[in-house]
Amino acid sequence: MRVAVFSTKPYDEAFLRKANGGAHELVFLEPRLNRDTAALAEGCAAVCAFVNDDLGAETVEALAARGVRFAALRSAGFNHVDLRAAKEAGIAVARVPDYSPYAVAEHCAALVLALNRKTHRAYNRVREHNFALTGLLGFDLHGRTVGVIGTGKIGVCFVRIMAGFGCRVLAYDPFPTEAARDAGAEYTSLEELLAAADIVSLHCPLTPETHHLIDPERIALMRPGVMLVNTSRGALVDTAAVIEGLKSGRIGHLGLDVYEEEAELFFEDLSDQVIGDDWFDRLNAFPNVLITGHQAFFTAEAIAAIAATTIANLTAFEDLGAGVHPVALG
Ligand code: NAD
Repeated sequence: MRVAVFSTKPYDEAFLRKANGGAHELVFLEPRLNRDTAALAEGCAAVCAFVNDDLGAETVEALAARGVRFAALRSAGFNHVDLRAAKEAGIAVARVPDYSPYAVAEHCAALVLALNRKTHRAYNRVREHNFALTGLLGFDLHGRTVGVIGTGKIGVCFVRIMAGFGCRVLAYDPFPTEAARDAGAEYTSLEELLAAADIVSLHCPLTPETHHLIDPERIALMRPGVMLVNTSRGALVDTAAVIEGLKSGRIGHLGLDVYEEEAELFFEDLSDQVIGDDWFDRLNAFPNVLITGHQAFFTAEAIAAIAATTIANLTAFEDLGAGVHPVALG
C-alpha cells in the first residue's frame, strides 16, 4: 500500500523503514498534514500522521477526495482528528495506544527532579564557574504528597515512580483501577487532590471535558507554591491562568512537555527566528518554569514500538479493512 508519511523527521524515517521491511511503499514527507498539504497524499491509500498534524474536517475531506481511506496515527492521543468527519468521509483511523508508558512517566519524573533541585539553573551556573548555592534550595520528595490526574498506563507508571521516592500519592480518575492502587495510589476527589498535593501531574487525555482542566478556579484550590507538571496535552492547562498563578506565587514550579500553542513551535529548529508567541516567551522567562518540546515519548524503545505498531496497523488495514488498534467515535 502506498502511504504518505507526514511530519517526517530523520528518526521517524529510520525506525519506520526498519519496521516496514518493504511491506508498504512509504512516501516520507517533511510538511505537517493540514488542509493545504493534503494534496501531497495524491495517489496514496493511507496517510501516517503525528501529534501536531491537523486532521480536522477540511483536511479529512481533502484526503478523501484524493482516494485516502486510512489514517495511521503515530500517537496514542487522537484529539487532532475529527472522527465524525473521518467516518463520514469513509476514512478509517488507527493509533498506537501504548508504546512506552515508562518513557513518558520517566520524563515526567525528570521534570519534577530538575524543577525541585533547579538542575537547569545549576547547570548554567557551574558552566560559568558560579558555584553559589543561593536560589537552588530544593525539598525532600520523601514524605511529600503527589497528585496524579489520570491513572491510565502512563499515570500508573508515574504513581509507581513517585511512591518509590517515598511520596504519598493521591489520584483522581473517573475510572479508578486496582493497578493504580497496587502501584501505591489512594483515590480522592479532584478537589481534595488539588488541595492536598505538593506536586500535581496531569496524565489524562485531552477531550472537550478536560480542556482547560487547570483553570483559575482549580489553581485557586491548589496549595501555595505547588509544582504543576503537564506531560499530557497542552490544552489541559489554561496558559493565561497558569501565568497569573506563577506571578502570584500560587504556582511555585511549572514543568511542561506540552503547550497549548505548540503546533506552531515544537519539533522545529526556530533558533534563528523571532517567535510571535508572547505567552511562550513569558513562560520561558520565569526561573521556576522548565519546558521541553514534547520529548517525553522520545526513547529508542518508544520510537521502535511506535514504528512497529504503525506498520501493523497499515498491514491490517490493507489485509482486513481495519487497523489493529482502530479509533472509533465514542
Ligand atoms: P490512557 O488512556 O492509558 O489513560 C488515560 C487515563 O485518563 C484513563 O485512566 C482515563 O480514565 C483517565 N481520564 C479520562 N478523563 C479524565 C478526567 N477528566 N480526569 C482524570 N482522568 C481522566 O492514556 P496514557 O497512555 O496513560 O496517556 C495519557 C496521555 O498522555 C495521553 O492522552 C496523551 O495525551 C499523553 N501522552 C503524552 C506523550 C508525550 O510525549 N508528552 C506521549 C504519550 C502520551
